[in-house]
Amino acid sequence: MEKKTIVILGSTGSIGVNTLEVLRKFPDRFEIKFLVANTNWELLKQQAQEFKVKTVGLFSDQAARALRNALGGEYTILSGETEILDFLSTPFDIVVSALVGSAGLKPTYRAIDSGSNLCLANKESIVVGGEILIPHIIRKGIKFVPIDSEHSAMFQILNGYGKVNMKRAILTASGGPFFKKEDVSEVTIEEALNHPTWKMGAKISIDSATLMNKGFEIIEAHWLFGIDYNQLEVLIHPQSLVHAMVEYNDGSLFALISPADMKFPITYSLFYPEKISMPFETLDLKQLENLNFYKPDLNQFPLLKLAYHAGRSGGAYPAVLTGANDIAVELFLKGKIKFEQISEIVHWVLDKHNSVPKINIEILLEEIRNAQEQVRSKYDI
Ligand code: NDP
Repeated sequence: MEKKTIVILGSTGSIGVNTLEVLRKFPDRFEIKFLVANTNWELLKQQAQEFKVKTVGLFSDQAARALRNALGGEYTILSGETEILDFLSTPFDIVVSALVGSAGLKPTYRAIDSGSNLCLANKESIVVGGEILIPHIIRKGIKFVPIDSEHSAMFQILNGYGKVNMKRAILTASGGPFFKKEDVSEVTIEEALNHPTWKMGAKISIDSATLMNKGFEIIEAHWLFGIDYNQLEVLIHPQSLVHAMVEYNDGSLFALISPADMKFPITYSLFYPEKISMPFETLDLKQLENLNFYKPDLNQFPLLKLAYHAGRSGGAYPAVLTGANDIAVELFLKGKIKFEQISEIVHWVLDKHNSVPKINIEILLEEIRNAQEQVRSKYDI
């Protein structure tokens, strides 16, 4: 069988490292053509050497210089966004989009544009630019599989049963570390980062604790599956084993259950539509003895409510939501604001936003920068 060519955008992150762990199990099936990171050139160097990847890219010029010195002339080291985007103009069998935040928007768009098939973890690019990216994916006729575990689950259920007579689609949320905590005014950074079921990067861990991440996922699901916001619901499910459910008018409810391990949706996306034997530990049915589901309290998690509002408002509202949240989370992680101020800041910025008549990628990125700047100047950073 011919090897598939693959690119990993964000190979040094949590999803990138998990993707490489999957690829390590299938050396005969994939040939990595390009790995991309932001600054972590030491890890990128190890990855390039282990997987024999001759071209790598770093968004940071300084990190790219350091890597050139360390690796020598045998490798091509691309530096900065323009060189990375140029390389993505070539079509590959698979591009794994796993950068974090709005940095993923342009590279993801370029990968679609060049006709590469997409395995998408970078939810922000769909949250912010779904209105542009999804029609482009359809126009290009590329294969597109989500990696986010809830969307992977919904993708698989809808693939089997479709949307006809669908009553509602449910995304589950673990509830994060503070689901049962009424007063979050004094929680520490370490407590907020300590996710009960998933091991993830810092930004997404905080977004899980505020349920902002689930809010993003509602907007992502709206665009990926064309489901109205009124039919999209969230249920808190602390065990993180049921990832999504779809209920139909005849009363049947389909759920996808798998371990809380990102290697499962990653493997599914890399091989889709082929179903392969999973090389990682699968579910022990004993784990299903105790599954709980709770409706989230929108007063406890105001960012979930704001995400529905931004999604329904459309245009640049989701871009403003993500931009404001980016910096609010950064401020929290630097110890400059309290946990509950994250939602207050996002609310404040979103309230001031006036809708823009027409959007494109540049306008969306500009709106993100404006929202970020508003928060930065208010907090003087
Ligand atoms: P990480 O923070 O662990 O890694 C992000 C990657 O993006 C790294 O390779 C990092 O490079 C790179 N990066 C960081 N900042 C920038 C920047 N400003 N410009 C360009 N590249 C940058 O993130 P995750 O792997 O946790 O998440 C990646 C995406 O997947 C996110 O959109 C997240 O929401 C989504 N996701 C993650 C899940 C998880 O379990 N982690 C689950 C579902 C979705 P460097 O290492 O050099 O900084």
